[in-house]
Amino acid sequence: MITLYNTMTRKKEEFVPINEGKVGMYTCGPTVYWYAHVGNLRSYIFADLLKRVLMYNGLKVKHVINVTDVGHLTSDADEGEDKLEKAAAKEGKTAKEISHFYFDAFKKDFASLNLIDPFKWVWASEHIKEQVDMVKVLEKKGFTYETTDGIYFDSSKFADYGKLSNKKIEGIEEGKRIAMGEKKNKTDFALWKFSKLEDKKQAFPSELRVKDTSLARSPSGHFRTKRQQEWDSPWGVGFPGWHIECSAMSSKYLGKQFDIHTGGIDNMPIHHENEIAQSESAWGKKPWVKTWMHGGFLNTKEGKMAKSSGKMKTISQLEEEGINPLAYRYFTYSAKYRKPLIWSDGGLASAVESYKRLKNIISGIENVRGINKKYLKEFEERINDDLDMPGAVAVLWKLVRDEKAEGKIGTIKKMDQVFGLELLKEDIVDVPSDVRELVEARKVARDEKDWVKSDELRDKLKGMGWVVKDSKEGYDLEKV
Ligand code: AMP
Ligand code: ZN
Repeated sequence: MITLYNTMTRKKEEFVPINEGKVGMYTCGPTVYWYAHVGNLRSYIFADLLKRVLMYNGLKVKHVINVTDVGHLTSDADEGEDKLEKAAAKEGKTAKEISHFYFDAFKKDFASLNLIDPFKWVWASEHIKEQVDMVKVLEKKGFTYETTDGIYFDSSKFADYGKLSNKKIEGIEEGKRIAMGEKKNKTDFALWKFSKLEDKKQAFPSELRVKDTSLARSPSGHFRTKRQQEWDSPWGVGFPGWHIECSAMSSKYLGKQFDIHTGGIDNMPIHHENEIAQSESAWGKKPWVKTWMHGGFLNTKEGKMAKSSGKMKTISQLEEEGINPLAYRYFTYSAKYRKPLIWSDGGLASAVESYKRLKNIISGIENVRGINKKYLKEFEERINDDLDMPGAVAVLWKLVRDEKAEGKIGTIKKMDQVFGLELLKEDIVDVPSDVRELVEARKVARDEKDWVKSDELRDKLKGMGWVVKDSKEGYDLEKV
């Protein structure tokens, strides 16, 4: 039995898939305008763990992750600039160049963390038709209204609005300042946004919404600002709101009702609330998603690690510091996925040491056939209890330290299907051939007692990022 904490019911529940043996799972993916930081990646490590636990239990998982390359504004609500357009303007590139560049970087991090690729990466800009079609359904059912800014979802027509975060609508209205614009209710949100006029003060009257966007002028005679990414729609030229992509694409690949939806906890109060409102209104199925799961933040001392703050760390920065990304993965297991985790150099350093020691001990274990049922059972109890990774890691350590335990290697191998830590993989450093040649030449120089040449070659190697240390057996080579 697997129990999972469902944000919707605020309880741990036994997980039973809608269709026996199969799980449909959707994860809110990256907005690809900048590098992902280790905090973002904590959310994907959590989703990967969940998937691995389900698979470990014999379930077939169909996992979809979206790639946001349009529509995500600098505020999660409907204000500010489109993050992709802003980055493209700043870097002097096309939006497509930006999204592909940062997606490739993201994929590299994803692979370094040994995260299993989803069934499909679904790109927002490649599913405009599906999003427009869904807005059409909502329009037909009477859930939308038009402003000069776009087509909005009328949250007062969806009685359950706020059920995920359990927020009282009145509470929101008294609290945070929300720009109303022409919105009828504070919790209304954009489904489709019109491309803006250059003259921002001027509304864009519908008679001027022409198909050839380059010809569109505001009443004052200004040309419209041409967005790089905009499409025609029944309501005028523009682009989809951020939330609609997840509802439209998940239904395309997973059906109009599916098992699990994941994301970071900051996605929950606005983005996921809006996803639910649109999907349950359009498809008429309740609940749209059976289990909602959210990953906790990776925090720095100043608060949540964020792309916009200067305090972010990336996987390639860790690698440059000689830290194996899997040691970071191991570090994230020190807290339960739902709890905040504090990022600190000291905390990470001790996880790096602990991960190295763990692998060292494991590499010294003699491979005796068989499985240790007692430890495996304990491990399974931990992972199936809402992914208790600190507990699962403790069982692993108990096993490796138990001198009398049998079947250690087979058991560790099974556990690693969930940990994803490559616990049995030897860390072999690949030495490029030109480096190898220089090292050999230096050895010859040393044998010939040509110390000047030998030192020269050593310095050359150092310049290439390799340190050679002489030892009794010959030499050790280390990458710095
Ligand atoms: P973004 O690329 O900004 O759309 O974010 C991608 C994912 O990272 C979302 O699911 C966020 O909830 C999550 N996320 C952002 N910051 C953090 C953080 N500091 N810790 C954990 N998850 C985060
Ligand atoms: Zn989403």
